Amino acid sequence: MKKMLNKSKYILDLFKMIYKSDIEFDINYGIDNKSKIQIKKGNTKFFKEKSMPSLADVKWKEWQGERIPFFFDSQNNEIITFKQDTATINFDIIASAFFLLSGWQEYAIENRDQFGRFRFDDSIQKQLNLTNKPVVNYYFDILKHAIDKIYGTSLKINLWENKDFVVFVSHDIDDCESAWKEASYWQLKNGNFIAPFKLVFKKIFQNDAWFNFDKILEIEKNQTINSTFNFITDSKPSGGLKNGDYNIADKKFSAVFSNIQKSGSEIAMHGSSRSYNNESKLKNEIASFPIDVIGNRFHYLNYDIENTPEILENSGLAYDSTVGFAESAGFRSSFCLPYFLYDLKNDKPTSIVELPLIFMDSSLRVKGYMNLPKDKIIDLAQELIKEIKKHNGMFSINWHNNRLSDVKDPGWKDIFIEIINICKKENAMFLTGKKITNIFN
Ligand SMILES: [Zn+2]
Repeated sequence: MKKMLNKSKYILDLFKMIYKSDIEFDINYGIDNKSKIQIKKGNTKFFKEKSMPSLADVKWKEWQGERIPFFFDSQNNEIITFKQDTATINFDIIASAFFLLSGWQEYAIENRDQFGRFRFDDSIQKQLNLTNKPVVNYYFDILKHAIDKIYGTSLKINLWENKDFVVFVSHDIDDCESAWKEASYWQLKNGNFIAPFKLVFKKIFQNDAWFNFDKILEIEKNQTINSTFNFITDSKPSGGLKNGDYNIADKKFSAVFSNIQKSGSEIAMHGSSRSYNNESKLKNEIASFPIDVIGNRFHYLNYDIENTPEILENSGLAYDSTVGFAESAGFRSSFCLPYFLYDLKNDKPTSIVELPLIFMDSSLRVKGYMNLPKDKIIDLAQELIKEIKKHNGMFSINWHNNRLSDVKDPGWKDIFIEIINICKKENAMFLTGKKITNIFN
């Protein structure tokens, strides 16, 4: 019983944080025949066994015109029953929300890819076709609906001033010194024999074509948006995996950092490969970072559900933005707002705010991942933005600096700008990770 207590409190606390209200709602997890809002408990035995719920037992019900899955319950009633002044939610939305949000599936399924990552192919999001639906937000909407009806309230998510949702734009900086060789090779392969000379010339007499921070700041100034730049401190490979191609201690980065900060944008960490499961390595990287940072995203989106939340909690950082699928856009935790990471190993919430990653350039067009043509990328962005707007959520985008340069695989910059414009038209606010974290906290 106690096992489920931390988990249900974690979910209900998150609900209260998002729908701020002065009223103390009388919500009970379980049927007690007296509380105003009662949520039926399903069969959650499996939380003790580090196993998966049965997918064959998933019940699909319609909510606000969308088919939503419910776990841990074999009954098939209406979603909410109202009786006099009480409401009963007939499905275990608490355990279902916890299951998806905490990343329990990554805890229960041990298979990993060559980089040590949980595979999108193994995910329940892919198997149940939920990747583009923030299911946990729908569960919260059910609870909000029950409360509104019983208390005569009209709870709203008012986190983003007068805007409908927030956009968190970030740039992981993996490579900013090797356009002269990588892009030259790409140009030669495509039959362009002049461009490589220009790139090498630029490298020698100016900066590498991927050292394009001023250009990115200019694009974002024209768009009147801010963003977060994630830098790696480690230029040597670790665990056989490549890290940054630059040395962050190099003098020329102090001008870059100062320009980013002057523009109102943010500098954060890009934890090197193998720092996600090594507490002292992560701490060393934070200590050797040239300035104080509060946010992080792990390189390769490496994330170990058993150890990373605890390591982050002990790191002194305030937020992380790693939780997204490398192979696909969409909602890895089935949620489109910030939330606190849950430490499953120690069965307790952490104080680390997670800003889940939803849309990354390299997931979209890379062969073996989604491999989408440009028009399909825009369609997908629109579909996700529609869901996020509906739930007053957060759209989190990662666009690498070299995809905002035209020297290799051009066209990415235009896609980026087009997506920004769609968000603006849909009444979005643009904030850095730090500002979103401050609002959420
Ligand atoms: Zn990276």
